[in-house]
Amino acid sequence: MTVAYIGFGSNLGDPTGQIARAREAVSGLPESEEVAFSSLYRSDPMGPPDQPRYINAVMALRTRLPPFTLLNCLQKIENDQGRVRTGERWGPRTLDLDILLYGRACIRTQTLTIPHYGMAQRPFVLYPLAEIAPETLLIPGQGRLAMLLRNCPKQGVERV
Ligand code: ATP
Ligand code: CA
Ligand code: CA
Ligand code: CA
Repeated sequence: MTVAYIGFGSNLGDPTGQIARAREAVSGLPESEEVAFSSLYRSDPMGPPDQPRYINAVMALRTRLPPFTLLNCLQKIENDQGRVRTGERWGPRTLDLDILLYGRACIRTQTLTIPHYGMAQRPFVLYPLAEIAPETLLIPGQGRLAMLLRNCPKQGVERV
C-alpha cells in the first residue's frame, strides 16, 4: 500500500457539496481507503479573477492502485461531477482532483507529473496538507513540508 495525497478543489455548483461527494467517491475507490481528510479552506482563484472563490481540501489515501490508474479514476469522478473542460487555463470548475504525492514516487510524463508541479507554491494545497501530514513529510525534489510552508504565505486562504 502507498499513501497518496490528493488535492480537492471546487468553485461551481455548490462547492462544499461537490467536495463532500468527491470525498465519498475517492474513499470508495477499489483497493483504497481514506486515512485522513483536512478541513475545508476557502481560497482566492489562481487564474482568471472573474470567478468565484474556491473550496479546497486535501485527502491522504492509502491505495494499491498504480498512479496512472488512480489518475484515470480521479478524472472519471471529475467528469461524473460535471467537470467541463473549456480549454481556459485555471477557469472555474465543479471539481478538480490533483494527485499531489504518491508515496515517494517521482513521475514525469505528458499526462502525469508527481509530485504535482505547482504544490510548493500553492497555499491552498500546503496548508490543508500540513493539517494531515507531518511537517517532516518529504516532497521529493522540493524539500520538507515545514520548509515549503515557511516559503509560502497563507495569503488569500482561510479555514472555513
Ligand atoms: P494545475 O495542474 O496547474 O493545477 P488544472 O488542475 O486546472 O491545473 P487540469 O485541466 O485539471 O489542470 O489537468 C490537466 C492535465 O494535467 C490532466 O489531463 C492530467 O493529465 C495532467 N496531470 C499531470 N500531473 C497531474 C497530477 N499530478 N494530478 C492530476 N493531473 C495531472
Ligand atoms: Ca473567465
Ligand atoms: Ca489543479
Ligand atoms: Ca487538475
